[in-house]
Amino acid sequence: MAKGKIKVQTENIFPIIKKFLYSDHEIFLRELIANATDATKKLHALASLGEFKGDIGNDTIEVILDKKAKTLTVRDKGIGMSEEEIKKYINQIAFSGAEEFVNKFKDKTDTNNIIGKFGLGFYSSFMVAERVEILSKNYKDESGAHWECDGSPEYNIKQAAKTERGTDVILHIAEDSTDFLEESRIKNLLDKYCKFMPIAIKFGTKTEYIDNSKGKKDKEGNIEKEAIQVDNIINNPTPAWTKAPATLSDDDYKNFYRELYPYNFEESLFHIHLNVDYPFNLTGILYFPKIKPNMEVQKDKIQLYSRQVFITDSVEGIVPDFLTLLHGVIDSPDIPLNVSRSYLQSDGNVKKISSHITKKVADKLEELFKKDREDFEKKWDDIKIFIEYGMLSDEKFNERAQKFALYKNTEGKYFTLEELTEKIKPLQTDKDDKLVVLYTSDVETQHTYIQSANDKGYEVIILNSPLSSHLVGKLEQQVEKSTFTRVDADTIDKLINKNEEIPSKLSDAEKETLKPVIEEVISKEKFTVQFESMNETDQPMTIVQPEFMRRMKEMSKMGGGGMMGMGNFPEMYNLVVNVNHPLISKMLKEKDNNKQKEIAKQTADLALLSQNMLKGEELTNFIKRSIELI
Ligand code: ADP
Repeated sequence: MAKGKIKVQTENIFPIIKKFLYSDHEIFLRELIANATDATKKLHALASLGEFKGDIGNDTIEVILDKKAKTLTVRDKGIGMSEEEIKKYINQIAFSGAEEFVNKFKDKTDTNNIIGKFGLGFYSSFMVAERVEILSKNYKDESGAHWECDGSPEYNIKQAAKTERGTDVILHIAEDSTDFLEESRIKNLLDKYCKFMPIAIKFGTKTEYIDNSKGKKDKEGNIEKEAIQVDNIINNPTPAWTKAPATLSDDDYKNFYRELYPYNFEESLFHIHLNVDYPFNLTGILYFPKIKPNMEVQKDKIQLYSRQVFITDSVEGIVPDFLTLLHGVIDSPDIPLNVSRSYLQSDGNVKKISSHITKKVADKLEELFKKDREDFEKKWDDIKIFIEYGMLSDEKFNERAQKFALYKNTEGKYFTLEELTEKIKPLQTDKDDKLVVLYTSDVETQHTYIQSANDKGYEVIILNSPLSSHLVGKLEQQVEKSTFTRVDADTIDKLINKNEEIPSKLSDAEKETLKPVIEEVISKEKFTVQFESMNETDQPMTIVQPEFMRRMKEMSKMGGGGMMGMGNFPEMYNLVVNVNHPLISKMLKEKDNNKQKEIAKQTADLALLSQNMLKGEELTNFIKRSIELI
């Protein structure tokens, strides 16, 4: 029996460990099981080198809860440690690690900065235990050892009779941590951190029903079932991402998705299997989720692993922002885990990983598009939000996306940007040789405008996502000599101005007489009256919101992006009067002032109505008046 003193400058290291990792006490279990896994894998490695010639036997790691004794034990059948090895590895090396940690983070109170909850390894057990024992016997069959420490820098070590190879780490759970004696708590932790660790982990037993051994049959002649107790293995040691893509079927990927998110009942749209070993090591499977309408897209569904050990489900900084909306798993031992996020973003490896993932995602999308365009188009409405986000936030991705980003017209046909511009060039080029791309943000409310555009043979594309207004600006820069105009931004002849003058039936003087009459029936702050000579068959009055005005308003709504004093940019529209419409001539000729006003009011209301802008009392009055007219 020997007594020793662990050499550390910081005498009170344990309170510090406890304090700094306060929110993450639970990771102790992951750390202990990761050690047990390493020890087991080392044994396998030694066996394959011929250094270990014995029988490995059942190498399942066990987690044993004893509520009465207030202990939690992690048992492995790995390489084990002799007395000397415990002294060497546990006392010196591990402690220097702990010290380094404390020095590094002494001045930081924000432990959330520490991604991956920096593994303190074995010593994290003192976050929840008042006393820890190690009982171990190494693979060389030297005599067993027993180590014990109560959290002070003093420890005891002695020889011990242990017959089985491997290590038991026994935690005597502290009074303030008794929740770790609850089965359900441990079960949850195992599920969170150890679900895909590479060595089988047993936590208790479970009942399974098998055909009874005596072959007894029930009345219907079926063999009766018999309940037996089997090991409750909580993990899948060979998850799909660790396998070669060629060996997996579509169903395997679907099943793995369900395994990852047992409570998510939606299927994924498609997956991307990542598999790189040079210049960094990265494996994983990313899924494009099917987004339910009106459901907020969930971030932080990608889980980060390091050699199958769960680290975090916040991959910000590692995965490009637009891809944090995806689901799935990334596993890389090359992502530094013991650094802050800001450091992480400047890390060379992490940058490479991030751009590799972006490239892979673009490759996959292009492949899907080329292989089966019809199917890709079916998925488009579900995936476009990711792609638009990516196009706006990542220039490299934007370049790649030109090949597969689609634009849907109001008839449900899909075009790439190139196809679209080629198609509309002949009809939608204006007098200044500018290509005018017409779009709608809402097929229902802008129906009248879409209709008149379609009547002219114009294509109207649907841009209705939350990112559309940003995208429009980006696309305008991309397509040479182009302008994107919402279909209700002007009257149809002015939307794409081809200089085709239609003679006006009204003189300027006549227009001047009508102007005050119309201004009297509408809000002058909101509407500017404009006269235009259009076809007789066009609407008598139309309300349009100039593209420029609307974009200003939208930008100011979104916080202005540095546009000072634009916080309350007013809502402004043009009321366009078609001077060639018979109704307008009638209004002009009407001598009775009241009747003239009535015509003006009724016509303006109709225009408002078709823009869905006639509301409340105005609408009630309009209906009343209309009934009287009938
Ligand atoms: P780390 O795992 O980061 O090296 P730890 O403090 O967790 O730090 O462990 C220190 C060392 O103790 C390990 O590197 C290993 O050599 C040894 N060790 C810990 N747990 C076990 C175990 N269950 N079986 C065998 N050796 C172990």
